[in-house]
Amino acid sequence: MPGRKSRMIGCLLGGAIGDAMGYPVEFMRYSDIARRFGGAGVRDLSVSNLISDDTQMTLFTAEGLLNGLKTGKSLTKSVYRSYLRWYYTQSKSKMPGAKYEGGLLNEAEFFANRAPGSTCLSSLSSGIMGTLADPINNSRGCGGVMRVAPCAVFPDAFTLGCRVAAITHGHPGGYIPAGALAALLQKLYYGQSLPDAVEDVIAELGEVEGAESTQEALRHAVALAEEGRPCAPTVHELGEGWVGEEALAIAVYSALSFPTDFPQALRLAVNHDGDSDSTGAICGNIMGMLLGAGAIPVEWRDGVELCNVIRAYAVRLSTIPQE
Ligand SMILES: [Mg+2]
Repeated sequence: MPGRKSRMIGCLLGGAIGDAMGYPVEFMRYSDIARRFGGAGVRDLSVSNLISDDTQMTLFTAEGLLNGLKTGKSLTKSVYRSYLRWYYTQSKSKMPGAKYEGGLLNEAEFFANRAPGSTCLSSLSSGIMGTLADPINNSRGCGGVMRVAPCAVFPDAFTLGCRVAAITHGHPGGYIPAGALAALLQKLYYGQSLPDAVEDVIAELGEVEGAESTQEALRHAVALAEEGRPCAPTVHELGEGWVGEEALAIAVYSALSFPTDFPQALRLAVNHDGDSDSTGAICGNIMGMLLGAGAIPVEWRDGVELCNVIRAYAVRLSTIPQE
């Protein structure tokens, strides 16, 4: 069984790899993917090894959480300040409230626009931090759930994941899937099996106001995986992943369909009509946390953009003392 360090490295590198596989086909229908790359679609990092906004923001989430832990201040506010720093990499605009040097800003690769989500950009440009009590908008886009994996190693990962997503996404369909993913990843981090962890999350969502659509999407993912015909048309039954619940459901469905095979789960998660980089990133987070870094082909682990930075942040997260 993989140790926690291996799981966390797998989680963040896996997310980056899924993001990089999905990024070139994010806006393509499956029929167009098949025409361009063959029926099996994108199979590895040979098309592109570049991460997109999903992984960039995941790393800024990690940076914010680690800074918050160090200073003893609010974790969520610290993540908000880190997101302002990410916003600076995308816009060159320095919003008040953050420092614009050091840490991840030392890495030139972050100053690249990789189709950043418009909801994240507009929320961060407002100068207001969204909260659960004061929603910043009514967005249920998947830009919240695709970046919260680092929350998994903190106590009450569900609430933290919701709060971190609500910085930019104010609809429950935008932030509850983020809480659900953080909770799911935490259970896997502690060694629970994937089917058990998914069932527990579905049950726990029953206690949460506004969680019905996320619960329903996850139930649908489990039922489809049990039917067992993993392919793009089946993925399509779960939607296209542009909204939070659908992105989470597609990722969970892909993981449940190939629970011991990292490459195959990711191929299913990126080759479909929908938001391939986000569904790939989330599926990579889940598969890497479940199987550990050793299950990821070494040429992918060492080939994805910023792999050394990603690994270093994962190691730092894995050394956080558990309650
Ligand atoms: Mg993206």
